[in-house]
Amino acid sequence: MFYIHCPYCGEHREEEEFHPKGQAHIVRPKDPESCSDEEWGDYLFFRDNPRGVHHELWVHAVGCRKFFNITRHTVTYEILETYKMGEQPTITAETYAASAQPESEASQVVKQAGVRA
Ligand SMILES: [Zn+2]
Repeated sequence: MFYIHCPYCGEHREEEEFHPKGQAHIVRPKDPESCSDEEWGDYLFFRDNPRGVHHELWVHAVGCRKFFNITRHTVTYEILETYKMGEQPTITAETYAASAQPESEASQVVKQAGVRA
């Protein structure tokens, strides 16, 4: 059991109260009629699957029932931050790699992932 901080409730709650809903910051094309099939297909079906820092949409299903975003490390499963809808993350793959200690295993993993991407 671990705890997730809900930015709306303002407190840490049990993981069982939450559900992941996929990648965060997916923006619907403003005019679907004018975008190409490739652009529409990317919007509907294609998602990032990074090895390292990832921004995810979650819902506090058994609590306030609001959607919010989590920045999570996909290798260590560490939740780096949570933030409300409409806000931008303060931690990105670039800032995380820059702030990580060179000796730590996690930072090496992030750097390797960055090389591949
Ligand atoms: Zn909540």
